[in-house]
Amino acid sequence: MKILRVVAVFTALAQGTLAFVTPRPAFRTTFLLAEEDSFADAALTIAGAAASLRGQTIVVKYGGNAMTSAELKTMFCQDVAALQNLGIRVIVVHGGGPQINQMLEKVGVESRFEGGMRVSSPEVVDVAEMVLCGAVNKEISSKICAAGGRAIGVSGRDDRILQCVKEINKDGYDLGNVGRVEVVNTATLSQLLDCGICPVVSPIGTGLPGDETAYNVNADVAAGRIAGEIKAARVLFLTDIAGVLNKDKELFPKLSIAEIKDLIADETITGGMIPKVSFATSAVELGVQGAFITDGRVPHALLKEVLGGGADGMGSGTGGTVVTL
Ligand code: ADP
Ligand code: MG
Repeated sequence: MKILRVVAVFTALAQGTLAFVTPRPAFRTTFLLAEEDSFADAALTIAGAAASLRGQTIVVKYGGNAMTSAELKTMFCQDVAALQNLGIRVIVVHGGGPQINQMLEKVGVESRFEGGMRVSSPEVVDVAEMVLCGAVNKEISSKICAAGGRAIGVSGRDDRILQCVKEINKDGYDLGNVGRVEVVNTATLSQLLDCGICPVVSPIGTGLPGDETAYNVNADVAAGRIAGEIKAARVLFLTDIAGVLNKDKELFPKLSIAEIKDLIADETITGGMIPKVSFATSAVELGVQGAFITDGRVPHALLKEVLGGGADGMGSGTGGTVVTL
């Protein structure tokens, strides 16, 4: 059964589609019709990637701006289920900025951003928690299950998964109840993964013991911190842009930590890209082998990035930015 599933994924990728990940009668015809060489090449690439990642953990930040289309959402959840069925342990950390904005507008609560972080009054955190832990989280976990995977939605307050202190912005802004993640309860996440379950984490944190404040955590921060603490093999940030761009809007396929510091200093990297590159960097410094900032608007971006690079794990090579030491 497992082998058939793997082959079904291979087939779908050879076709350039992943409309199904479970075996179907059409499979044999597809196999016979497939270009033999390209099918074999794709199969070898996927087999290499799957073998190098089986039993390992990958963390995926699924961005609020990359989850606006229903089709993309379904494909993302199919990708998570397919990776699980290949024996790869997946943790999803989701955002929900646009969804929070809509609700803030509806209920008439104002908010603004400083340095890519949402300034978070207790009212803003209330709305963010309602939207993230309610609607967004449950939609993702249920769609992964519908695609044949297993997922449970949790927030960073559940079993104290994300323990935070109040973030002080380096430019002196008071960000309100924005949390800096100090402790990650990796034991709970590992126990879920051991049971074959993908934890889908909403980035609302709790305080350190004795502080029950609900903190708004940027989802990139949460994903990078979880990846670093759990010693993930990879962390991927799926977003609404091709990757990290230079001032002429050209993609950097690869960036080192030193280059990233310069690009933030000269304001090539600004706003919402800052927490992504910063926490991709911190994950790599803690031993994560690959950190990818990838275009989540591409259909099946997750599957292509994780399996498309083969055993060396350097991504599909067709887009996105890889952050290295
Ligand atoms: P997400 O929902 O994925 O977290 P964000 O809006 O927070 O999305 O962050 C991605 C945004 O960062 C891009 O859409 C872009 O506007 C902005 N950005 C700032 N600097 C850069 C850069 N150098 N390269 C790419 N995007 C950048
Ligand atoms: Mg963001």
